Amino acid sequence: MKGAIIAVGREILTGRTLDTNSHWLAVELTALGVSVKRICAVDDVLGEIAGEITHALSLGVDLVITTGGLGPTRDDMTLKAWSQALGRELDLNREALGMIREKYRVLHQRGYVDTPDITPEREKMAYLPQGARPLPNPVGAAPGMFLEDGDKVFIALPGVPGEMKAIFHEDVVPLLSRLLERRGEGGVLLQELVKSGFGDESFLWPLVRRVMDEMDGVYLKTLATRYGPDVDLEVRVEAWGRDEQEARDRLDRAVDRLREVLEEARDARN
Ligand code: ATP
Repeated sequence: MKGAIIAVGREILTGRTLDTNSHWLAVELTALGVSVKRICAVDDVLGEIAGEITHALSLGVDLVITTGGLGPTRDDMTLKAWSQALGRELDLNREALGMIREKYRVLHQRGYVDTPDITPEREKMAYLPQGARPLPNPVGAAPGMFLEDGDKVFIALPGVPGEMKAIFHEDVVPLLSRLLERRGEGGVLLQELVKSGFGDESFLWPLVRRVMDEMDGVYLKTLATRYGPDVDLEVRVEAWGRDEQEARDRLDRAVDRLREVLEEARDARN
């Protein structure tokens, strides 16, 4: 499954907020077996968010995730953008409204908010594109969104990192894992760092590429740092498998083979 991540928020573009959400999501999605093809950040502008969703889809990805812009304010317009990009009406979702009502009831009971009433601002968070299901937000008020459309999956998560992570772990991981399994695309990614004994990336790369070309389901990357006589560059070896055992076998084979190739290169140099 190929995926795209879109971080929504002007504060990311002005540099006031570092987009840690995309980084976190990229790590999590990769570990689930999703191949992330694109990450971008957009302004809180309806047309730009919708345009970026449409663009991501034009790249042929199966999964698009947005983070941010689900709150109660007027500049939170991610769900409207989803509705526009997908050509699906924005409807008041009863389940989402129930979640929001319950959240404000509890917040009011604890004295955190003045009223438990569903104000227009609170109701706004319950409008989802037709066919979408709300994802409960155990931390904040705004539910996330999950929408399956044919073989495409669309997800909207809040921008507050704690809320995004909680929804992702509690609902998105089980939903995506089941989906990936159903499509026979589920998998495990394992990785290991190997010290190369070389400091020149341009010399090291052909050796690394040789190992990658020989094997299926592995990806090797030289990790550049700086130049110097004391530099010992590391190589990150990643291996995919349909299960832990397959990934482990591939990883062990790739690491052994890399060590062999590096050894040969060292011998040839001496
Ligand atoms: P909520 O639904 O909880 O109101 P939201 O979806 O409206 O959240 P935003 O208003 O977009 O979220 O962002 C809320 C805060 O979350 C921001 O002020 C910022 O501190 C943080 N945040 C937003 N996007 C990101 C991001 N991509 N990476 C890290 N932090 C972020």
